[in-house]
Amino acid sequence: MTEQANPFLNADLLSLPRPALKALFQAAGEPGFRSEQLFRWLHVRLERDWARMTDLPAGLRTKLQAARTLAVLTPTLERVSALDASQKIVLNTDDGHAIETVIMPMESGHVTQCLSSQVGCKMGCDFCATARLPVRQNLSAGQIVEQVAYACRVGFALGLRRGGVAGGEEGPLSARPHNLVFMGMGEPLDNLQALIDALDILCDPKGFDFSPRRITVSTSGVAKNVAKLAAAHPNVNLAWSLTATTDDVRDRLMPVNRGVPIRKMVDVLLELPQNAHRKITFEYALLKGVNDTEDDARRLASMARELNAHVNAIPFNAWPGADYQRPERVVIQRFVDVARRAGASITLRESKGQDIGAACGQLAGEKPV
Ligand code: SAH
Ligand code: SF4
Repeated sequence: MTEQANPFLNADLLSLPRPALKALFQAAGEPGFRSEQLFRWLHVRLERDWARMTDLPAGLRTKLQAARTLAVLTPTLERVSALDASQKIVLNTDDGHAIETVIMPMESGHVTQCLSSQVGCKMGCDFCATARLPVRQNLSAGQIVEQVAYACRVGFALGLRRGGVAGGEEGPLSARPHNLVFMGMGEPLDNLQALIDALDILCDPKGFDFSPRRITVSTSGVAKNVAKLAAAHPNVNLAWSLTATTDDVRDRLMPVNRGVPIRKMVDVLLELPQNAHRKITFEYALLKGVNDTEDDARRLASMARELNAHVNAIPFNAWPGADYQRPERVVIQRFVDVARRAGASITLRESKGQDIGAACGQLAGEKPV
């Protein structure tokens, strides 16, 4: 077979959900079960070295090697927090851009991993370090999935058994995180197809086998894609970064609000097909003197009640050059108390890894040491 005729040439195999991988194999005249074998190597054994995929015929492996490299991310910087043992990792894409993932041991004893969906972010929120990064580009599904594979390998090497795999399987997936949150760099709903493909792979019982109920996608409010995500993955939880309770303030903080004002996004969420399994949360970064009044707390509570949403209030994480500050502790506490008295289910959350560059996008902007 000439190189031109090789159907695997430059294929991004790591990004393909199982049905798409099967279709590619069938188009290449390979039996369907070979694609199932490869999917298992990639998304259960988390193998990235063709030479070790010993049950694939040598001729097929030679053809597959014409596909894009499987080493889609390279770790360049790792920091572990002395405060809460969270681990922040900078990974470089093969074209040299840095993204971040954070592995966070939670008070519950479970591990939550925070994932990036893009290099940088074009949504331009004024308080967010990621918005200031000069490069903005989508990650592939494979690059999203690979962040999870990385966390599994790290956990497995440390002998951790975090989740366990269906069927009692031993291997790197036995060390997979308990929860995944798309709250790292980038706007996941601005990279919808890669997000859906990555969720397909992560939730595939023959792949990572995550329950969608343990996955949360956070959006600033890309309304046009909310229903599309919910149609593809109805049980994946949604977080909306509300962050302000009036359009006036939100317009200034988050440019997305100028196209999709608060009421419009509330309506989009209300119109989603009923689903008792999907949880909706509001993320609310508390900014001193900007969105931290008692009136804000009451308006927030009223919206949370309307949508039956839980609120996570997160005091702003300062980053060098930011124009915002976190409110005083008593103001934060008063805000939470007022919202709670007004009927909100609300949790005050401190970002993990305060000592290692906690703000999203902060560490990727630093030079590797
Ligand atoms: N783009 C998506 C997901 C990534 S941002 C979104 O905006 O929802 C994840 C969360 O981090 C958002 O809720 C955002 O408001 C919050 N955030 C960003 N920078 C922050 C900072 N410096 N301090 C506290 N929260 C921050
Ligand atoms: Fe993008 Fe989210 Fe940061 Fe806004 S808060 S700039 S949407 S990553």
